[in-house]
Parts: sequence; structure tokens; C-alpha cells
Amino acid sequence: MSVVTRFAPSPTGMLHIGGARTALFNYLFARRNGGRFLLRIEDTDRERSTQAATDAILDAMQWLGLTPDEPPVMQSVQVERHAAVAHEMVSRGTAFRCYVTTEELQARRDLGEQKRLAAREEGISEATREALLAEASQLLAPFRSPYRDGAPAPSADAPFTVRLRAPESGPRTVDDGVQGSVTIDASEIDDLVMLRADGTPTYMLAVVVDDHDMGVTHVIRGDDHLRNTFRQVPIYEAMGWDVPKFSHVPMIHGNDGAKLSKRHGALSTTAYRDMGYLPEAMKAYLLRLGWSHGDQEIFTDEEAIAVFDVSGINKAPARLDLDKLATVNAHFIRLADDERLFDLISPILSAGKPLTANEEQRIRAALPHMKDRGSTLIELAAAFDFLRVNRPLEMNKNARKALSDEGKFRLKGLGDELQRMSQWSGASISETIKSYCAATGLSMGQIGPPLRAALTGGLPAPDLAPVMEWLGREETLARIDDQLAS
Ligand code: GLU
Repeated sequence: MSVVTRFAPSPTGMLHIGGARTALFNYLFARRNGGRFLLRIEDTDRERSTQAATDAILDAMQWLGLTPDEPPVMQSVQVERHAAVAHEMVSRGTAFRCYVTTEELQARRDLGEQKRLAAREEGISEATREALLAEASQLLAPFRSPYRDGAPAPSADAPFTVRLRAPESGPRTVDDGVQGSVTIDASEIDDLVMLRADGTPTYMLAVVVDDHDMGVTHVIRGDDHLRNTFRQVPIYEAMGWDVPKFSHVPMIHGNDGAKLSKRHGALSTTAYRDMGYLPEAMKAYLLRLGWSHGDQEIFTDEEAIAVFDVSGINKAPARLDLDKLATVNAHFIRLADDERLFDLISPILSAGKPLTANEEQRIRAALPHMKDRGSTLIELAAAFDFLRVNRPLEMNKNARKALSDEGKFRLKGLGDELQRMSQWSGASISETIKSYCAATGLSMGQIGPPLRAALTGGLPAPDLAPVMEWLGREETLARIDDQLAS
């Protein structure tokens, strides 16, 4: 059997990270098993679905490199096929036309609610209370239509929905890849609507028909769909279709253990791109969020594909840990190719003020040595500020302190030595500083602070010899002179 997985988002909003993780699991499972990974945009809810949301989902998936093996399928294109399946089920007797109207259903639920509340009233007898509760639970129970056994239509032109003829009572078991064996009683399954009164298919029908038609063998999705599975399986059975293997993945919670919501920080996948996370870091982080393989913390795509299995998915909800995401991101920034990293930080660098050619040259020279100076691309870009500040540099408090008269005096001596250098490289600059220290009896602790102050104004920067190499001779000497002159 060749494995086919799919990701089936509804385009009603952004792709949140829980969805991205579901997509990732499906992608990895297909890759691991030499199968295909498909994407279906579930846009049957025409009112809530938007093109913008579809575009945002595709954008996020592309960013993460979760490219489906076939062009995305739009669910709404298949409505006639969905309806045809519903009608076929009616003719087989596994679905039926139901003439109960929405208003009647609502009235039934309202009555159930009233009885439930009435049972709470004080001063009623125990017997009355029990009777009320029994009536309430019947009215509020999963709906079984009076038409399921072939009651005639109220009139020839009465509008109808098409409902599943839900299985009779008895245990129903789903053998879930993550949750294990889950059993409910069939009485918990309602005669669900498959075609609305206007003939349009519901999600519950469409998802089954499409998964069958797309040849989906494994459904990996959020555990908010676990109960739906019990409602969907009867449709497969009614049509005599193979039931896919289901795996329901627990939700992602915030670090306080509560269900993830806006107050836990950014939730859309691409918001993390904007915050300066790399897609491979996001993927590695999402993978470990709720899945494990031994005690390995960080996986590349290839490593994940080699070992991914649903058996490694935890049953308990995972907690979002932004500090860990930052650590993983820092790891992948250090591994990233220089050229790519420059292209990624370049728009961030240019956002405030455009990069000059000079600055670009300095940053490109410094970049290979500075990859450990940020856990996001935003932080990394900011780490180059000392290369970009305009002369004369503004000195922060510490820098001003380091440039005392004594500090300046020492700096002047070193400046003269640097001035005399014929060849400008980090190594030769280091040599010059060392021999200046040797000749004057000054320590690096005495010359370092005023030099750093003059070169950076107090901004964070790495070792000074390479800093001077990246700044170039002219800029270095000019920054020193500025301070000596002031
Ligand atoms: N469209 C559904 C959702 O976004 C997913 C359905 C499924 O994966 O079966 O929640």
C-alpha cells in the first residue's frame, strides 16, 4: 500500500502553529514511507473562507518547505461529487431524507435546556426532578431523526436535509495511532446532516469523500477531530470504502498549560518569520513539540524523515516554549550559509536606513564570525549596528568613562602605531596591539576599554582586531581620531 497523507486546513484565518505542526507531521510521515503528501483547502464554508486566508496558508507552507506533491485541491470544486455520494447513500438506505426543520431542532434543544434548568428548581419532588432530567437528556441527546426509518414526507415539496443513518447502539472503536483504542457507544453518534436543505454538502461528508477520492491512507490531524471520526467512519462503511488510519495529535498549549491563545504571543506561522526565525528552526522546534525520538533535541529535515513515526507523538498536550524556540533558532543561524543569511538580514538592515555599499562590504566580511550573536535574525541584524553608526560616534555612558584623559592618552599612543601599519589585517592589528602593550607596559585591560569605546561608542561588538579589519583602516583611524579630538 502506498502511503498518502494530507493536510486539510480551512481557509478561515491564518495558519496557526498547531496547523503547521500537523502539516509537518503529515509531510514527514509521507516522506518517511515513500508516499505522497497532499494539500486540500477545505473551503466549503463559503461565508468564512477567504482567498486571503488561502494565500496565507500557502505562503506559510511554502516558507516551511512543506510543498505538497500535487497542486492543492479546493474542496468547493467537488460539491457535486459530495452530493452524488449522499444521494447514493440514500438509495442504499444508509442515509435518508429528513424533513425536520432547523427551527424544529432548535425548539427541541430549547425545550431540553428548559427542562434541564427546571430540574434544578428548589421545592420540586425527587421524582419530578428525575423525570425532568430524563426528558432533558433525551431532548439534548445526539439527534436521531424520526425519518430515519422511512417515515413518509410531510408533503411532496417539503424541503429536506440528507442525514446519515447513524449506526444502532453498541460499542464503536477507533484504533487511533496516538490515542490508542478509543471506544464510544453508537448512541453518541447523531444522524448527522450530510446535505443541507439547499443541497450543499457539510464538512462531515466532504472530508470523507475527498479523503477517499484522494486515496488518503493516513489521516493525521488535531485531536479536536477525534469525536468527528466516530461520525465519519460510518460514511466510509456505508460506501464500502477503506477507512484510513487515524492519528489525532494533541493541541499545543501555552507555557502556563492553558489552551494556546493570542495572549501567549504570536500564533500565525508567518509571524515567526517576521520575528526572525528560520523555517528549518521552526520545523525542528515544532517537530519536538509533542514528538520525540530518543533524547535527540534538534533534527534536520533529513534526520526527521529518516526516523519520524506517529508512535513518537505524545498523548498529552505540548507546551509552547519560546525560549527553546530561540535556542533552536540560534543553532540553525550558526549553521546557515553566509550568503543566505546576508539575504535574510539585508531587508531588516535596510528597514531603518538603506544599507550603503560600504556597510554591506563590512557586514559581509563580519558575518561569518558573528553568527552566534543573535537568536533571531532581528537580533543578529542589530548586532551589526557598530559597523553602521555614523561618525562622529555617539558615546554611551560607559564609553565616555573609558575615554578619560588617561584612556585617551593610551589610545593616542596606539593610534600612532596603527597609523604606521602597512598591511591591514586582523592578525597584523593584533600584533601591533601586542607590541604596543609590550613597549609601554600597558595591559590589554588598560588599552582595550578606550579603544573599544572609540570604535563602537559602547555598542556590543566582538573582538577588536577583527572589528578594525572589517571597519577598514580609514574608518578605524577616523573613529579613533574623532575621540582624541573631542
Ligand atoms: N478542515 C479541518 C480543520 O481545519 C481539518 C479537517 C481534517 O483534518 O480532517 O480543522
